[in-house]
Amino acid sequence: MVSGSDQHGTPITIQAEQEGKTPGQIASQYHQQFLESWQKLGISFDLFTSTDTANHTEVTHDIFLTLLNKGYIYKDTVSQPFCPNCRRFLPDRYIEGTCPHCHSPRARGDQCEECGRPLNPIELINPRCRICGATPQFRDSEHFFLKLSAFESKLLDWVRQQTHWRPNVLNFTTRYLEGGLKDRAITRDIDWGVTVPVEGFANKRIYVWFEAVIGYLSATKEWAKSTTDEEKWRSFWQGDVKSYYFIGKDNIPFHTIVWPAMLMGYGGLNLPYDVPANEFLTIEGEKLSTSRNWAVWLPDYLSRYDPDPLRYLLSINMPETADTDFSWREFIRRNNDELVATYGNLVHRVLTFVYRNFEGCVPVPGELDSSSNTLLNKARETFNTVDNLIYRCHFKDAIRTAMSLAQETNRYLDEKSPWKTIKNDRLASATSLYVAISVISCLKTALYPFLPFSSQKLHESLGFTGNVEDSGWQHVTPSPGQKLLPPSPLFSKLDEKLAAEETSRVGYVHC
Ligand SMILES: [Zn+2]
Ligand SMILES: [Zn+2]
Repeated sequence: MVSGSDQHGTPITIQAEQEGKTPGQIASQYHQQFLESWQKLGISFDLFTSTDTANHTEVTHDIFLTLLNKGYIYKDTVSQPFCPNCRRFLPDRYIEGTCPHCHSPRARGDQCEECGRPLNPIELINPRCRICGATPQFRDSEHFFLKLSAFESKLLDWVRQQTHWRPNVLNFTTRYLEGGLKDRAITRDIDWGVTVPVEGFANKRIYVWFEAVIGYLSATKEWAKSTTDEEKWRSFWQGDVKSYYFIGKDNIPFHTIVWPAMLMGYGGLNLPYDVPANEFLTIEGEKLSTSRNWAVWLPDYLSRYDPDPLRYLLSINMPETADTDFSWREFIRRNNDELVATYGNLVHRVLTFVYRNFEGCVPVPGELDSSSNTLLNKARETFNTVDNLIYRCHFKDAIRTAMSLAQETNRYLDEKSPWKTIKNDRLASATSLYVAISVISCLKTALYPFLPFSSQKLHESLGFTGNVEDSGWQHVTPSPGQKLLPPSPLFSKLDEKLAAEETSRVGYVHC
């Protein structure tokens, strides 16, 4: 599991210019913030690097030169936008105009966010400089091109076999390829980025959309170098191994067309197995915008709330195949009605009752009746289903499936009423509580990928030591007699009034 921050994106250079800093300063400032937020949110990587490393430059140069030698990269003169007012070439995102495909007025020089199509600056209708608003001139400049056209039919054949891809990813990619592939310039007249390993190009850089995707490979190589076996990266890129690319939908063409074309041209490395791109998440019904503060900032969220309720909502409401919305009202409702009332309450009522009535130990069960066996079978089945759904990147269904097991266990306990039977049939009470504990232990593992903090807490409450991961990805039942820890609630109820308070922060801009 490797990832990293792209250090060469144009938003970085634009912000650096605005703040009078170097792009490197801005990039590393964000890199640190990302790392802290991931960590607090329970997201871990084997390596989270950046594209500003000597290793990444080396790997990029190798791919560039190999493709150049094989004829998949060639030199040509291209007309590049030049702002007569700012006296500089304008890299793709420094130029804006009307999309020739969907006529959105705010298309950028590299891509239209509205229809998702990659663009060349020259295709824009009514182009303008983003810095000063002037109409750019187009001036000739020598650049390198990636010969995407050479891969068109090969890519189409390959993509048509990827029937396990999400329909939105598959359809977008197929439509795109059927429209034909144009060769694209992969260098720019800029001074921030990976250098061009060819003489005479000292003032130019490899453009970010060619170089950033190489980050997956360079990160794996960097990770391997940190182990005892520098060649270990091969076990993730060659032979019988599947690679998954988790991205947002605006990145689909770079991962299903450009990167696969580069890999095909380079040779000997695996193509992506799955590119489970998410659609967009809106906030309170509107598109996110950092400049309008239409956002929920992670450091701010984490200063006031636990990570798991957010992870829960983002998982169960994930925009897997269509856009979905985040609202604070929904956040509080899901926390209170689902995490607290369904799952948290199940765990808390079972563990507090057992702790008080069975000397703080997992009860010793009697013979299991058919409804107990049915529930335990259901738990095993649920675990296998969740496993299969996660494997196929159906995360929404996976967490829903786990939550419905919690509901079913609540119904089982309502039927068995161990809190009543303990008065006249202690063994019956012990049996149903033992079954419930076994299912709870199953849930703690099945939900661990989604709710790692509460799962870890539950793991300890159930008397296990170490981390949830130590017990493996399987349904583990605590043994009868296992000592429990004094229970404490997994989740806390949130005041519904918070919804209005939090919603009013969204879009509030300090003057
Ligand atoms: Zn468009
Ligand atoms: Zn300008």
